[in-house]
Amino acid sequence: MASLDRATEAEGYVPTAAPGFYRPSTTLPITAHKRALIYAITTYPVTILIGETGSGKTTQLPQFLHSLGGFTKDGKIVACTQPRRVAATSVAVRVAEEMGVKVGDEVGYSIRFEDMTGPTTKIKYMTDGMLLREALVDPLLSRYSVVMVDEAHERSLATDVLLGVLKKVRRRRKDLRLVISSATLQAEEFLRFFTDGEGESEVATIVGIEGRCYPVDCLYLEEPTEDYVEKSVQTVFDIHLKEGEGDILVFLTGREEIERTVRTIAERSSELHPRAPQLLPLPLFAGLSNDAQLAVFDAAPENYRKVIVSTNIAEASVTIDGIAFVVDSGFVKLRAYNPHTGIETLTAVPISKASATQRAGRAGRTRPGKCFRLYTEKVHNIVLPDASIPEVQRSNLAPTILQLKALGIDNVASFGFVTPPPAELMVRALELLYSLGALDDYARLTKPLGVRMAELPVDPMLSRILLASVEMGCFAQILSIAAMTTVQNVFIAHNSDSNSKNVSESKKRLFAVEEGDHLTLLNVYTAFTTRGQKAAKWCHEHYLNFKALTRAVSVRGQLYRYLLRFYPDLASRNCDAATEVEIRKCLVTGYFAHAARMRPDGTFRIAGQEDGEVLWAHPTSVMFNRKVDWVVFHEVVETGKKTFIRDITSVEKKWLLEGAPEYYRVREGRGV
Ligand code: ADP
Ligand code: MG
Repeated sequence: MASLDRATEAEGYVPTAAPGFYRPSTTLPITAHKRALIYAITTYPVTILIGETGSGKTTQLPQFLHSLGGFTKDGKIVACTQPRRVAATSVAVRVAEEMGVKVGDEVGYSIRFEDMTGPTTKIKYMTDGMLLREALVDPLLSRYSVVMVDEAHERSLATDVLLGVLKKVRRRRKDLRLVISSATLQAEEFLRFFTDGEGESEVATIVGIEGRCYPVDCLYLEEPTEDYVEKSVQTVFDIHLKEGEGDILVFLTGREEIERTVRTIAERSSELHPRAPQLLPLPLFAGLSNDAQLAVFDAAPENYRKVIVSTNIAEASVTIDGIAFVVDSGFVKLRAYNPHTGIETLTAVPISKASATQRAGRAGRTRPGKCFRLYTEKVHNIVLPDASIPEVQRSNLAPTILQLKALGIDNVASFGFVTPPPAELMVRALELLYSLGALDDYARLTKPLGVRMAELPVDPMLSRILLASVEMGCFAQILSIAAMTTVQNVFIAHNSDSNSKNVSESKKRLFAVEEGDHLTLLNVYTAFTTRGQKAAKWCHEHYLNFKALTRAVSVRGQLYRYLLRFYPDLASRNCDAATEVEIRKCLVTGYFAHAARMRPDGTFRIAGQEDGEVLWAHPTSVMFNRKVDWVVFHEVVETGKKTFIRDITSVEKKWLLEGAPEYYRVREGRGV
């Protein structure tokens, strides 16, 4: 008990699950600024908080505010929003642990399809998208006393929209307090945004908290590398053999790359001398199970050096202690939307200089560190942009515009964006929403269709399909399909070896339906739900992901409840008669904008774009290496140099024309 900080105890926080032990959270840099912060937040409606990552903003500030009492009395909640789900969940787990409570009680989180909050929740970590959804039912966000918008500098699409909405809400709720937390540079821009048209001194203030930061030595490649994945593995081993103690953090771009790298490191580690220090490679990316996520925070066992191979989640959203070396590929996967093709991809692009600095900084939190940049200094200085382009300027805006309309913001062009999106993206989104039937000729939200589409927590195309399925008598099947497309990694290989992969492939063929992936997913779902108690074993035998399928069941239940609200007699309707053709036709009602045709060489082109981008069926698709004519697909992914379409269903050309005459009329000159 000697280490207990009395001031802390007096204010009623930081007990832990183990009585007698206290975490030295008082040593975090933010603690020295506690008073200044509380003063700012109680005095000004908007506080812009700048500070190094790892200084305690995300985990401590909500606890400070809770400890004051006033912000969390009478059921009021302190919210902290995150651009990433994995950050929201892992931070909530951490803070619950610090406070010695269960996640879902005083501290909770809320992400799409997963609400871990309860009636006693005082501190709520959530994705910024979830808070926006709540604004649909509670436009003034009246449950919240404070909203902390974390990682605002990342400028994710949902963050930007949320900032615009909060700016409006604040004018109508004098008691609401906003904290905008930003890594560095953009503080002034946020200040201008919130004070625009008002007296700066009364509305907003900037509070800076210095973090601890040791020098980081940045090293560059002399010659550019062709293969940064392989180079990163070599660099990890070089560090391991030649440098001193400390864990390694490797920045790559996505799941596949990361898993491959973790495997390669593990394989090559077996060549290390058995008594020499070993390497413990761990992946970190969104969509990882909660347990696997938390594993990266555990200290490595004796004689092991941790190597965390991560997407840019580890750049700022989560902080892992003990990192002394950073290996930076120089790339990040970003969303990019092409308004001409209507395709949104996740593409690996060079990071910004700001990101490079941020990544390097991860090596210097607890001691001086080193950052190995897998690019030349010339590339850093000349090629890398200063900052990345905000997502709002390179995304499909259809979901955003639908949401803004549902929030009653009719004139989306004059909505107060921190940075306005290009007109072309707006026009394209309005067109798509119009052809989906969500907007009328005057770009007003249609009732009830558009209103309901906005309420459903899925992409507008999929919500259109869900609503159509009720009319078309196949909602039971479409609900399962929709749920299955929202969960990832349904099919798994038990080991990374190719034999296991082959078995997994042949098992998958048991469920495969010639007409495509959606019906295949439906088959898997149906088979899974009839297994009852034996489902886990059955999944293992069939190379299916039990957790993903369990999640699909929960998601389906939630989507069903939405539909039930719109159609109270739903339970009495029966879908047994629905045929496969009807289900596929129903998919066309939303996915028509994602229609493509196979060419004789087996590649695809978007409907009406014969000279457009070359698309390939994803290797996980049942359409891989198969002949087909017209298809619709769920999404586009870019891996390496190829652009793949994923979740594909074969359709007939005439369904496209019947199902979406508007679309093919509106997209003049680009008809089927
Ligand atoms: P900031 O938001 O300023 O970047 P955080 O509040 O996220 O800082 O982190 C403060 C400190 O808490 C970090 O330095 C790290 O040591 C610790 N921490 C955060 N999350 C975890 C976790 N899940 N497990 C262990 N330690 C954590
Ligand atoms: Mg943080």
